[in-house]
Amino acid sequence: MVIINLALTRETEVNYSSKNQTAISYICFCCGGKVVESYAKYKLRGEECGLHFTDQSKFNIDQLTSQYAGEYWKKLRGGWKAAIASILCIDKRPILQARAVSQFEFINQRVRGKRFFEIGVGNGEVIRFISKHGYHVNGLEPDPQQSQKLLRFNVINLKAEDLKNSHDSYDIVFMSHVLEHVKNPSLVIQNCRNIIADNGILFIEVPNCKNPAILEKDLPFWHTHLFNFTTESLRKLLHKNGLLVTDVQYVSPVMDLDNMVLVERSLLLWKLAYQSSKFKQSLYCTTTSTSGIYLRIIAKKSL
Ligand SMILES: [Zn+2]
Repeated sequence: MVIINLALTRETEVNYSSKNQTAISYICFCCGGKVVESYAKYKLRGEECGLHFTDQSKFNIDQLTSQYAGEYWKKLRGGWKAAIASILCIDKRPILQARAVSQFEFINQRVRGKRFFEIGVGNGEVIRFISKHGYHVNGLEPDPQQSQKLLRFNVINLKAEDLKNSHDSYDIVFMSHVLEHVKNPSLVIQNCRNIIADNGILFIEVPNCKNPAILEKDLPFWHTHLFNFTTESLRKLLHKNGLLVTDVQYVSPVMDLDNMVLVERSLLLWKLAYQSSKFKQSLYCTTTSTSGIYLRIIAKKSL
C-alpha cells in the first residue's frame, strides 16, 4: 500500500513493472511544480519554489504534531524547568516578548482595525502585549492547559486545522512560528483566509530558510519544523489560497544571543524584562533575505 503524503497532491502513478515497484510523482502543494528528493534524509523539495518538507509517507509525523494538543507548553517552559531556566538565564520569555514588540511595530502601521486573532497563542507573549495596545484579542491554542490559562484573552482550545468558518472576521490574523509545525499548511492558510476581514491582513512569521544557516538547522527530519519555507514558497502558497503578499521583512537579533557569555546574557535578559518597549524593539533589526533568521510576511485577500 502506498501512503500518500498529506501535504502533496498526487499527479501521476507510474508502475515500473520491470522493477516491480510503484513510483509516484508528486506536485508541490506550494507552487504546483515538480517534487524531487532533498539531500536531507526523509525530506523532499519543491524544485521550483525551493520548499523543503518532511516526506510524510516515509516518516510518521503524528507523534511530532500530536504533542501540541497535549501538555506541550508545560513540558517546554512550565514549572521547575522554567524556574531553573530563569536562574541560569536561559529563559527565553523576555526575548519572545521583545520579538512580539518588533512584530507589533511591523503590523501596526499596516492595519486599519483593532480586531486581532492569533493562531497558536502558545505562552501568550504576543496576545498579552497586543491586548495592552487597544486591540480586541482572540485566539486559538491546541494545548488545553495553556488555552485555559489564557481564557481572559478569549483563547479557545482548538487546532488551526479545525478552525471552521466563523461569522466573525478579524483585521489581523496573526501566526508566529506555527506554519512550519502544522501537518497541513494549505488547510491552515485557507482557515486563516476565511476569518480575515475584507481590509484585514494576515501576518506570518517563520524561520527564514533562504538563509543557508537557518535551513541547515531546520532540515533534520526529527526536527519539529516539518516545512522549511522561503519567501518564494510562502508567497506561492498564499497566492494559491487567494492571498496576496504586500510586505516582506527579514529580521535578526542585533546581538548573538546563543554565543553570549552568561553575565552578558543575564544583563540583557534583565534589561528586556524591565526596560521600555523601545529597548525591546531595538533587539531586532531588519536585514537581507539571506542573512535574516526570521521571515515576516503580510498578505491581503486578493479579490
Ligand atoms: Zn513548490
